[in-house]
Amino acid sequence: MKVELPELPYPKDALEPVISAKTLEFHHDKHHKTYVDNTLKFIAGTDLEKDTLEEIIKKTAKDQSKVSIFNNAAQVFNHSFYWECMKKNGGGKPAGAIAEKINASFGSYEKFVEEFKNAGIGQFGSGWVWLATDGSKLQIIKTSNADTPLTTGLKPLLVADVWEHAYYLDYQNRRADYLTAFVDKLINWDFVNSNLK
Ligand code: MN
Repeated sequence: MKVELPELPYPKDALEPVISAKTLEFHHDKHHKTYVDNTLKFIAGTDLEKDTLEEIIKKTAKDQSKVSIFNNAAQVFNHSFYWECMKKNGGGKPAGAIAEKINASFGSYEKFVEEFKNAGIGQFGSGWVWLATDGSKLQIIKTSNADTPLTTGLKPLLVADVWEHAYYLDYQNRRADYLTAFVDKLINWDFVNSNLK
């Protein structure tokens, strides 16, 4: 990926009533854009300027002097990935390779849903809940703030943003309701399947 603000893959009102156009307007046009602008500002004139977004994230991940670059660059990646994980009339039981992998890794789709939602609810403060793979098994992980599985060698397949800005206008403090709606009505399983390849 380049360091840039991608267009949303759907109109701003496409995910209503699960996620409102107002939320997507603030989340994409303000929050995500700010992470892009900050990253571009911080890398300007440095040798990171020619790197891809993924390279910038990996190079700055464990460097305390570059924590601001890492936080903004990782948030650019996480948000670009998150938009693709949703679609109108998505969610529910998947088909294809991901369905088999979920059964093999968690026992059933229902167990996956329970673990995914519990991880999202259990993330204290801001962060993300991911479905990721080490190449064989699937795992659910939660990350704090800007942290991303890219730095731990895991391949991300699916993510839900559990920062309050992702759901507060629509659900206020009810993160569990947002996660339930995300799983039941929004997940773009075609995208998740494409990430397995
Ligand atoms: Mn966000």
